[in-house]
Amino acid sequence: MDSHKTVVVIGGGITGLTAAYYLQRAIDEQELPIDIKLVEASHKLGGKIQTVHKDGFIIERGPDSFLERKKSAAELAKDVGLEEELVNNTVGKSFVLVNDKLHSMPKGAVMGIPTQITPFITTNLFSVQGKMRAAADFIIPRSKVSGDQSLGRFFRRRLGDEVVENLIEPLLSGIYAGDIDQLSLQSTFPQFYEVEKKYRSLILGMKNTTPSAPKKTLNPKTQGIFQTLKGGLQSIVCAIEEKLPASSILKGTRVMKVLRKVDEEGYTVYLNNGKNIEADSVVCTVPHMLLADLFPQYDFFGSFKHVPSTSVATVAMAFDANDVADHMDGTGFVVSRNSDYTITACTWTHKKWPHTTPAGKVLLRSYVGRAGEETVVDLPDEEIEQIVLDDLKRIMDLQAKPEFTIVTRWKQAMPQYTIGHKERVGKMNKIVSEDLPGVYIAGSSFEGLGIPDCIDQGKAVVNKVLTYINS
Ligand code: FAD
Repeated sequence: MDSHKTVVVIGGGITGLTAAYYLQRAIDEQELPIDIKLVEASHKLGGKIQTVHKDGFIIERGPDSFLERKKSAAELAKDVGLEEELVNNTVGKSFVLVNDKLHSMPKGAVMGIPTQITPFITTNLFSVQGKMRAAADFIIPRSKVSGDQSLGRFFRRRLGDEVVENLIEPLLSGIYAGDIDQLSLQSTFPQFYEVEKKYRSLILGMKNTTPSAPKKTLNPKTQGIFQTLKGGLQSIVCAIEEKLPASSILKGTRVMKVLRKVDEEGYTVYLNNGKNIEADSVVCTVPHMLLADLFPQYDFFGSFKHVPSTSVATVAMAFDANDVADHMDGTGFVVSRNSDYTITACTWTHKKWPHTTPAGKVLLRSYVGRAGEETVVDLPDEEIEQIVLDDLKRIMDLQAKPEFTIVTRWKQAMPQYTIGHKERVGKMNKIVSEDLPGVYIAGSSFEGLGIPDCIDQGKAVVNKVLTYINS
């Protein structure tokens, strides 16, 4: 009997790359008789991670950074030899745009929840009534909901509509591009539910659980909480690709379906080039809505087919600094839904990540598209560019057209963890482990969509695959 095993990893985004990398490392270190096949539909690896180098600018088409606090991304960077490349963002003021006016983020707001009272009382971001309604958080009893609920329901009840709409929603939208009244509290920010359970008041609870800001130093410009790689996030993709045997990577190849064998263990993985791979174990890292087609024998994946995924576009614009008359003192802003703008956020990338922009230039990266406002993503590049420019001109003094613009569309790219998500994923994993032994589902659609969450999932799969293969 052939003791050689084959593991197929479907999808070469950061989840699949992480799984393949750590699996290959274990194979090399332990001299395991296992071959990996990483199958990626497009002609390059990285999935949503894509960096463009143009005229001295480093431009991210997709994600631009990751949270340093979640350790796995920096660890992966170190493991592939990129430790020296890690760089933190420059700290700067951030703003929220409400009704044509940029307001500084109130000091001490954690995801929009006030942890310091004075900045909250003095901000113009909310009306007096809005502030009084938020203060009701001190006396409102705990929610009686014990299961999942929407983020909107939870925050509106505690802090009122105005704080939600002018601050919490735009911040959350920046992460999920979602509808706050559909997104699951349990799958996005379960810690806020725990805070309410323990302290009743969110404001008091967050005040107690948030570490106080470091004392002012002589140089207040400390490092920010995000990290990226100096050469762009794609350098981690390239570093992993270099470490994998070339024969293990199949680019430009789509997996059409995966069928469990009838009379023996294992799976047949069908490719769009007419070839098959016989696999002992399969790691599937594609977006959730594709699962039902990939595993046609199992109708339980159908429950994911209709879970929404939002479309967004990033619009990077490069300017000569002389053409941007007012240099804003900050690193960017998010836009509230009740403002009459199409852009949902803008990063002053040259300030937040100075290494990305040549001296004397300005790099602005805006977002368009979020749940319920997605049609803009389908417009031609020139129209999107004009809409973004018109919006930016209402806030900033832009004297000329950009030197160049890069529009990147991300269709159905932001999975929405709607109410009941955790339960759905738990149920899926249970059925998969019973009916599809040796198959593992991971990626941004399931247990966190930040880069470190995807890396965690890719890493966790490695042990499961090795345990299964050795069992
Ligand atoms: P993907 O990157 O989607 O990879 C899945 C891969 O599977 C793709 O390459 C696809 O081509 C391939 N595939 C699909 N079907 C098949 C098939 N049948 N056969 C073979 N291959 C297939 N996160 C952060 O932490 N920080 C940020 O700043 C941030 N910003 C973001 C900005 C944008 C615009 C977007 C869209 C996301 C952002 N995210 C951010 C989220 C993060 O980038 C993603 O969640 C993460 O990169 C997804 O990785 P993944 O491997 O799970 O999926």
